[in-house]
Amino acid sequence: MNNFTHRCSLDGHNQIVQFFCFNETCHHIRLCCFECYQEGNHFGHPKDVKQASNFLQFIQQTTEFCEEFINNIQKLMDNLQKIFNEFKIKLQNKYIQSVEQLQKQSINQISSYISDAIQFQKEKNQHYQSIFQCINNFQQIITDFNSELKLPSLVEQLQQNSFDQQISNKQQIENKQIYIGFSQIKLLQFVLQSQFQKQLTFSTKYKHRESKVSLNGKMAENGGSCLCDQMIPINQITRFVFQIENSQQCYIGVGFREIMKQNYSSVGVNSGSYLIRNDQKFYSHHEQQNILPFSFKDQDIIIIEVNMKTLQVKWIMASSGESFSLELQESNGLYPCIRAGNISSKVRILEALN
Ligand SMILES: [Zn+2]
Ligand SMILES: [Zn+2]
Repeated sequence: MNNFTHRCSLDGHNQIVQFFCFNETCHHIRLCCFECYQEGNHFGHPKDVKQASNFLQFIQQTTEFCEEFINNIQKLMDNLQKIFNEFKIKLQNKYIQSVEQLQKQSINQISSYISDAIQFQKEKNQHYQSIFQCINNFQQIITDFNSELKLPSLVEQLQQNSFDQQISNKQQIENKQIYIGFSQIKLLQFVLQSQFQKQLTFSTKYKHRESKVSLNGKMAENGGSCLCDQMIPINQITRFVFQIENSQQCYIGVGFREIMKQNYSSVGVNSGSYLIRNDQKFYSHHEQQNILPFSFKDQDIIIIEVNMKTLQVKWIMASSGESFSLELQESNGLYPCIRAGNISSKVRILEALN
C-alpha cells in the first residue's frame, strides 16, 4: 500500500491517512491520520490500529473468506442438484410407465406398482409442500443475509457501472415511473427494434365481434379474444411486447387461429390459446402443471417469447424480470393474441418507450 494517498477526512487535518482501525465495535472513521490517532479516537483498542500496509493483507483475507464461503455453499447446491437429478430419474423410471411396459411384468410386480402409485398420488402434495417450505426458508436466509450485509441489487450495481452510457433514455423511463432492470431493458429495446414487433397489428378480422381495434391496429379493447395478423414463424425464437393499458380481466399470450376462430369467447383446455391473466391465472390449450404466473397491472410492460424449437411460450415482466412459461402443443398456425374479459380491458402493442 505504498500509493495510498487519501487525506484524513476530519476538519483541519490535512495529512495522509496512516492508520486503519480493525476493531470490531469501533464507531469512528476507520481511516485516520497521525493527528486523529493522537486525539485518542482509537485509544481504547490500540492493538487493533494497524499501519496502512496491513490494509492490503485485510483485503486479501476478505477476498479469500468470501471465495471460501461461496465455494462451500456452491458445494451444497451442487450436491442438492445431484440428489434431485437422481431422485427425478428414479421417480420417472418408476411412475412414468406405458401399458406395454407394465404388461411385461409379473402379476405381483404390477400389483405392487399399483399400491405404490396410490401412495404416491396420495402423498405427493404433502411432499411438495415440505420441499417448498424448505426452499422458501433457504430463500429467506439469503434475503436476510443480503440486507444484513447491505448488498446492493444487481440492477443498482449495473446502474452504477454502465447504465448511463448504455441507456440514453433512462430519464424518460424514470419519468414514466417504470423501473426496468438492466438486462430486461436491453431485451426490451431489442424486441422493440425487431421487424416482428414493428409490423405487429391486432386483426380486425380474426376477433370477437365486440372487440374494438384502434390506433392503426396497435390497440385492442373490449370484448373477447383478438388475434394479431402476423403468424409466429416456426423453427425460431420470436419475441413481442404488449403494454397493459387496463388490466381488468386482461389476458395476453398466443393462440392457434384455426381453433380460436371457432369461438372467440372460450379459454382453457382445447380452446386453442395460451394466456396469462392479470390476477395470476393461466389458461392453456392442453393440461399443464398448476404453477402460478406473476400478476400484472395497468401500465405494465410484458415481453412474450415464443421458442418454437423447444415449444415453449414465456411471459417476462419487463419491470422485474419475473417470468412464467407454458409448453405449446405444436408450432403451426400460432399468433399473438389477447383476450379482454371485461369491457375496460385494453392492451397496446408497444412501439417505443416514451
Ligand atoms: Zn486525521
Ligand atoms: Zn477504532
